[in-house]
Order: sequence, then C-alpha cells, then structure tokens
Amino acid sequence: MNDKIINNGLKFNHMDFQTRVIHVGNNIDKGTNAIKRPITMANSYKLPYDPSVLNWSGADENIYTRNGGSNQKYLEERIASLENAEDCIVLSSGVAALSGLFFSLLESGDHVIFSNVTYIAVYRLLNELFNKKFKVETSIVDTTNIENVKSEIKDNTKLIHIETPGNPTLSIVDISKISEIAHEKNILVSVDNTLASPYNQRPIELGADFSIESLTKYINGHGDSMGGSISGKSKHLDTIRKDSQINLGGTISPFNAWLIMRGSVTLPLRMEQHNKNALKVAKFLESLEIVTFVSYPGIESHKNHEIANKQMKNGFGGVLSFGLNTNHDKHNEFVSNLKIITSAVSLGHDESLIVFIGEDDERQYLYPKEFKNGFLRFSVGLEDSNDLINDIKQALNKTGLL
Ligand SMILES: *Cc1c(COP(=O)(O)O)cnc(C)c1O
Repeated sequence: MNDKIINNGLKFNHMDFQTRVIHVGNNIDKGTNAIKRPITMANSYKLPYDPSVLNWSGADENIYTRNGGSNQKYLEERIASLENAEDCIVLSSGVAALSGLFFSLLESGDHVIFSNVTYIAVYRLLNELFNKKFKVETSIVDTTNIENVKSEIKDNTKLIHIETPGNPTLSIVDISKISEIAHEKNILVSVDNTLASPYNQRPIELGADFSIESLTKYINGHGDSMGGSISGKSKHLDTIRKDSQINLGGTISPFNAWLIMRGSVTLPLRMEQHNKNALKVAKFLESLEIVTFVSYPGIESHKNHEIANKQMKNGFGGVLSFGLNTNHDKHNEFVSNLKIITSAVSLGHDESLIVFIGEDDERQYLYPKEFKNGFLRFSVGLEDSNDLINDIKQALNKTGLL
C-alpha cells in the first residue's frame, strides 16, 4: 500500500479496513480546526507569482478543478487505501472510469478480451465505439472458462477486462487465474469490482492491474451521487489521469466527491447487512416452486461458488438474479405489486431495487440458457430481510404466482 498515506502522524498501512475507511483522506482542517475536511466548491485556485512555471495540463498542483479538486484528492487517498493500491483516480461516474481506462490504454490495432457479462457501457464502448470507430480488435469471451480466455489471446492482446460478480447474471470469474495467464504474456488485467466492493473483494491483492468501481453503487451507498474510480499503479494512472480527467474532462464534482466520502464511512457496516440480507433472500427464493433459478455467488447451487468463496472475503454482496416460471406480462405485474422494493435501475443503494430484464433484451445471446425467458435483477437493500421476503410473497400472491 501507498505509504504516503499519513494523517495526524499516523501511518495507515498496518491498520484495518474499518479504521482506514473512517480516517484515510480526512484530517483536521487547517483553516478552522474543523474535524472534517470542508467541501471546496471553487473552480480555480490562486496561481503562484510566476504561473509560467506551471504545466496547464498537470494534475499535481491545484490550478483548476478539472485538473483535480481537493475533495477528489481526499477521496482518491481513501479509495487507494481500501483497494490496497498504490494510486487511485476518482472520476465523474463508473462509466467515466471505464472509458478513461480504455481511451488511455488502447490504440488502433490492439486487441481486447472482455467478459460476455459486463455492464452495458463496456459492451457499447468496446464492441461498438472502439471496435468500429478506432479499429481496436475485440473478443467477447465467456471468461468463467479459463481455456476460452487462453485460446483467444493473440500477439496484439493488450488488455483483458473482466467483471466479477458480473452484472446482471452474477457470473464469477477467477481473478488470480486470469491475472496469471495474462501476465505471462504481458497483458494487463482490469476488473470491474462494483458488485463486490473492496470490502468483499480486492482485485489488486489477487493480481489484477486495475480495480474499477462505480462509486455510485456501494461505496457511496445512498443512491444520491455518482462517481467512479480506477485503482492501480502510479505508472499507469499518471497517464490515465491526464487523458481521462484533464483532457477528456471526466472530473467529479467536489460535492459528489464529498458525498461519496461521507457515504463510504459506513461501507463495512452496510456490506455486512447487504451480504446477510441477500443470502437470506436468495435462500428464500430458492425454496419457491415458481422460481426457476437463483443466481447468487453465496449459495452452493451457483456454478462458481467455490471460486467466489476463494476470492470474496467477507461475503458475496447484495445483488442477485432470479427467474420466474411465467410470461413477460406477469413479470411486470409482479414488479408493480411490490410495495417496499422499487422498480429502478442502479444497485448498492440503501433501498432495495429490482429490474425486469426481458427475454427480448439485445444481450440475451450472451447469457446462460436459464436467463433466456427473462429474469429479475434484484439489488437487496438494507431493509429488514423479513420485510423484503414478505413483500415478495405478497406480490407473488397478488399476481397469482404463489
Ligand atoms: C453501474 C455500473 C457501472 C457504471 O457506473 P456509473 O456510475 O453508473 O457510470 C459500471 N459497472 C458496473 C458493474 C455497474 O453496476
């Protein structure tokens, strides 16, 4: 870990996650003695006597908030420490982090392997924009099968991008194995760690080069601000920072950085509750006859439960997917009958959210066969688990499915 991270004379590398998530990135405010650092909503910082000494596109000094604001820098210190990474960049959204990484690393003629199950913007960026417009070769691979990945590696393969657990099917990819085979060939590995959060899984400790988070999800945790992060080695991140933030303009607003900083303090407590609630709900759903399948890495019926067990330390997160043995309309009716659980995109909020992904979804061809009739992605929130289970029961009843 970065041993630059010192607050109040304390070095944090030997302290536990729970302590770091509270203290790293915070400090006594020098101006006021406030024990929380303030939000700095200023676009510009005072220039030195001779500004010609500055690099206008540099990130090291406070010049202009697009080059990096104070609140962003505090949050970067914290996320780097949670990911056990040398360095971190925080940007305006998870997608800004993903696109920043791809724009910075990839050139025409390079080849990228990416998981068949990823956040939709990864599919759009790599398979449509980079591939068609910038002549980057792409292979969509079922990365849960290591042999598939091995056989797809080419001389020009630059990056393997995986997502585990994968959104929306909760597929599990072996991070250490992928990193091992990639590094033998000098290929970089990026892992979208959003569904796990660094409390449950730390890709860099498992050998990956980059860990990407949508801070919008668990790290902020309250569903009220957007952000994204890329953690990794400084030698990569220095270039990514210049490209993605200063020149592409994906900088986070100071207010959002501050909100995420505040939300992140309770990450371990919230994840414990998400982990527990989701496991309980998954087991309940598995017991119902109308449920065709439940995909949750924490239950034994998950195809890669063993791998999840090995690489996810504290639990398996709050997101699961399941199928109902009924038609398209009845899925919508079931969702509309839920009273506590809300039909909305996003995940990792305090409140439970559910999305029906239909049998006609354009990416169905990439998913395992049990998903083909349509399915529900459920982000299990922090509510009482019995209330959630009762909500599902009453909605199934009202829809005539129980
Ligand atoms: C939501 C999400 C993203 C995108 O994050 P935004 O903050 O919405 O841009 C990326 N990856 C995964 C796995 C996500 O769930």
